[in-house]
Amino acid sequence: MIPLSIPHLGGNEWKYVKSCLDTGWISSAGKFVDEFGESVASFTGSKHGVACVNGTSGLHLALELAGTKRDDLVIVPNITFIASLNAISYTGAQPLLFDICPDTWQMDLNLLEDFLASEVDVIDNQCIHKSTLKRISAIMPVHVLGNMVDMDRLLKLSEVYHLTIIEDATEALGSRYKGQHAGTFGLMGVYSFNGNKIISTGGGGVMVTNDQALAHQFKHLSTQAKVSPDEYIHDQIGYNYRLVNVLAAIGVAQMEQLSDFIQKKKLIDRYYRNELAGVGDISFQKVENEVDHNCWLFTLRTSKMRSLLKHLNNNGVQSRPFWQPMNQLPMFSDCLYAQKDNVSNQVYQEAISIPSSIGLSECQLEEVVETIKSFFKTE
Ligand SMILES: *Cc1c(COP(=O)(O)O)cnc(C)c1O
Repeated sequence: MIPLSIPHLGGNEWKYVKSCLDTGWISSAGKFVDEFGESVASFTGSKHGVACVNGTSGLHLALELAGTKRDDLVIVPNITFIASLNAISYTGAQPLLFDICPDTWQMDLNLLEDFLASEVDVIDNQCIHKSTLKRISAIMPVHVLGNMVDMDRLLKLSEVYHLTIIEDATEALGSRYKGQHAGTFGLMGVYSFNGNKIISTGGGGVMVTNDQALAHQFKHLSTQAKVSPDEYIHDQIGYNYRLVNVLAAIGVAQMEQLSDFIQKKKLIDRYYRNELAGVGDISFQKVENEVDHNCWLFTLRTSKMRSLLKHLNNNGVQSRPFWQPMNQLPMFSDCLYAQKDNVSNQVYQEAISIPSSIGLSECQLEEVVETIKSFFKTE
């Protein structure tokens, strides 16, 4: 089986993990924890980076620190991984769903602009949803598959309507818009190092921000809000959201290879786009010129998605459909959903992700392409 997206451990992972084990520094006080956060910050051009146990916990904490509270609304695209909405839900706020663009598969900013122009009032620097009188406290753009929306336009809207941006950049480490890294546009941005992401610590996350106080509070809240290093004194209800040193050690080693990984992902992307153009009714995700895409997970569209999916998985090429749109899930079916043509569902019916691991050989890439071509020949 050619796997969809698996970690690539090609550098100092073993050495750094061994040093944790040899010295006994396996838990959350070891030196790799800070080093990992700092290396992600310096790579992305942020002032601060703080590691946490996974991307979901990072998004939760970031929202809480940004002041999102029970009964607020948080704007989020309808096509994302469930974790974005779970993080919003943990704060007691409710997702306010927006449909996506048919070509880029990112949040539709035309819809957003129209909605804000007609459905909200700004009162005392707060964005109030007119029909429910709820406060819209934040907007969580999700850089789906590492692609990005027109960030200039999003920033302008967020300023006019007093919306704090918390970026779900969990898939987008290394992606840039006009040269600036995904995750660094908002008040805070969060990356994930889950097993299938562009680099992995097995599980992990890093929050980046330019605000020193927020970085400090993030660390504080993620470590049970413990005030003193020596005594059990706490000043808030905190969380046990720390990353442990063994995993951070893997992260430091993975960061050393990230630039090479991105190069390889780009080669995979280029190869698939060249080889699969014109095959059946296949179309690709559009990436705007301003976006330098990390090419995390190659995903294409075809009206034959369901049968292609079966064909690939039966023939040793692991493939996956896209996420079921959030408005179709029972927990979120009552959420407000701004849409015109329910593009989310169209993309969901047609999108399929194919193998994109760093370690793929040329042979394997050819096999993926041949297996797809053979499907369309017999169609
Ligand atoms: C992976 C992912 C997350 C969550 O990250 P974890 O580290 O798995 O908790 C959140 N949002 C999106 C869009 C993701 O792809």
